[in-house]
Amino acid sequence: MDAFEYNANPARVVFGSGSIQKLPAELARLSVSAPLLLSGPHQTDQADALTKILNGKIAGLFSEATMHTPTNITEKALEYTKTQKADSIVSIGGGSTIGLGKAISIRTGLPHICIPTTYAGSEMTPILGETAEGCKTTRSDPKILPGTVIYDVDLTMTLPVGLSSTSGINAIAHAVEALYARNTNPVVSLLALEGIRALASSLPILVKDPSSTSARSSALYGAWLCATCLGTVGMALHHKLCHTLGGSFNLPHAETHTIVLPHALAYNAPAIPEVMAKLAAVLPGSEGDAVQGLNVLLKSLGVKRALKDYGMTEEDVEKAAEIAVSNPYYNPRPVEREPVRELIRRAWAGEDARPL
Ligand code: NAD
Repeated sequence: MDAFEYNANPARVVFGSGSIQKLPAELARLSVSAPLLLSGPHQTDQADALTKILNGKIAGLFSEATMHTPTNITEKALEYTKTQKADSIVSIGGGSTIGLGKAISIRTGLPHICIPTTYAGSEMTPILGETAEGCKTTRSDPKILPGTVIYDVDLTMTLPVGLSSTSGINAIAHAVEALYARNTNPVVSLLALEGIRALASSLPILVKDPSSTSARSSALYGAWLCATCLGTVGMALHHKLCHTLGGSFNLPHAETHTIVLPHALAYNAPAIPEVMAKLAAVLPGSEGDAVQGLNVLLKSLGVKRALKDYGMTEEDVEKAAEIAVSNPYYNPRPVEREPVRELIRRAWAGEDARPL
């Protein structure tokens, strides 16, 4: 076995149907009593449900969480946090709302309880991406990591099927890249394979029957494991490409991850034969080929496969390739302009992934 170093991030996880009822106990555990609730504009009903559970004992509700954590919204929320004398933050929602919670928590030192309602995974990471004047910067700090995460499957029942699928593949992408991370280790590999197995087996069921609590539970469990991978080891080509595409061409987060993942894996395949074999074993329909397994999974989910469907133009392919190779970073296969351009072109055109 290769030598490795292993770091576990210290977060408390409370998992299960109805687990938001445990929020009062979780606040008491932290000796806080005036939480500021955070949500997005479309999830105020879920925030209202939390207010009821807390018998109205909240410092306030700020419901303007926005994609990419713009700093002007954070400033507004900070002002509100101070005037309401909040002693803690509770964020309920997807990565956008959790991002706002992290931004307030790192600026104030207030404890942060996350209640995720998508599979994006921000709740398990010490990473914060923020946007100021159109420019997104990312930083990592152990103090950004939320202290408590409550995963309640009941909150995910309303996640539309399309977003459930793309958000689930977004989670799988974290685990796939964890398997070949420079600092991967045997424990992270176990989490990654179990996370992928749980999501790949439950997402097709969930698409056919969105009200299946067992499929939704399995998907949320898988999302947690994949998020742990994202928070523990470094990512590579796939995440760098999605960051470039999202930031430079304003493409949607989960949908971009979904389209790019099979192509990024096809690119790295020649450099990671052992990982490909392990992945194929947890992807139904792979017949021993993990790239085929992802192609089959995406087909069964009925998701869009082309970046051009989200407004990317053919000229953007060249620009994206240029940006993707401009800053060196770790990847199991060296990042070379020509095959990366072809990878992006195939993702733009919506082709099935195949060897690159
Ligand atoms: P999101 O938080 O923007 O949510 C997408 C939409 O889904 C919103 O309109 C939201 O209201 C709605 N929604 C969420 N849960 C719902 C539910 N259960 N029922 C009905 N509607 C629901 O999207 P996301 O994909 O969760 O997060 C993306 C953002 O998170 C990006 O900005 C990304 O950069 C960030 N992110 C950060 C990290 C990190 O480690 N820092 C990790 C993953 C994602």
